[in-house]
Amino acid sequence: MKLRKNDKIKIVRGKDKGKESVIERVLPKSGKIYAKDINIVKKHAKGRGIIDLIKPVQASNVMVICPNCNKPTRVGYKVEKEKKTRFCKQCQKDF
Ligand SMILES: [Zn+2]
Repeated sequence: MKLRKNDKIKIVRGKDKGKESVIERVLPKSGKIYAKDINIVKKHAKGRGIIDLIKPVQASNVMVICPNCNKPTRVGYKVEKEKKTRFCKQCQKDF
């Protein structure tokens, strides 16, 4: 899983395509993430009327927005001094 909590993301597939958001929770086992205000489903709840339910999104449906160049990008990995770091494939900077 290349995505992390608090990453800025852009949705590239599905009904929220084109929207930008922030990751609130990562589900590494299922390869999904919860993003703020993304994939909201209206649900009828007994005694509470209609409630908004946020459903997880497939990680492959989002791209990380690089905090350095501010572009949606693919994330690369490199290992330096036994530490795994992520980098932006657009500007090559770590983040
Ligand atoms: Zn970048």
